[in-house]
Amino acid sequence: MRFVIEFQCYKVQDNPVIKEISICGVDSNFLKNIIFKPPCSWYQLNQKDIRTNRYLYHNIHNLHWNQGTLPISYLKEFLFTYIETDDIVYTKGLEKQLILEELLQTPNVVVNLEDLHCPKAKDIKDMFPHHNCSFHHKDFECAVKNSKIFASWMKINCFRYEEY
Ligand SMILES: [Zn+2]
Repeated sequence: MRFVIEFQCYKVQDNPVIKEISICGVDSNFLKNIIFKPPCSWYQLNQKDIRTNRYLYHNIHNLHWNQGTLPISYLKEFLFTYIETDDIVYTKGLEKQLILEELLQTPNVVVNLEDLHCPKAKDIKDMFPHHNCSFHHKDFECAVKNSKIFASWMKINCFRYEEY
């Protein structure tokens, strides 16, 4: 099966820490998402992380640092609950591709949608029905919204190649 996985991050020690993740089926209507609890207190962050995270909050995803239902340690269990080793995972951008490759490890294939010439979510969002998750105002980046938009784009632009 094919799945689009999208996520939004904060930075801790300059490394991305996933805050919101969404898995959306390309060959089904499957959709699961989680908002993770913060990995540490806001007051433990260094000044550079605080600046970066303030920017991410106000300009990108608008997810509050303290939001979340499960600890980030649950991330791999969440992924492996739904992603089988022969599934193909799609995401947008090299950074997310590398993060997912490291999390899933071989033999899962992680495809960068940019290599398939998939446009930016904001440029195709009006073509497909979508909604943000309940944590998000519509003007901000949402992993749920973006995964649904990219899965919808794939349904009409990327056919299955099982016969090969
Ligand atoms: Zn969201």
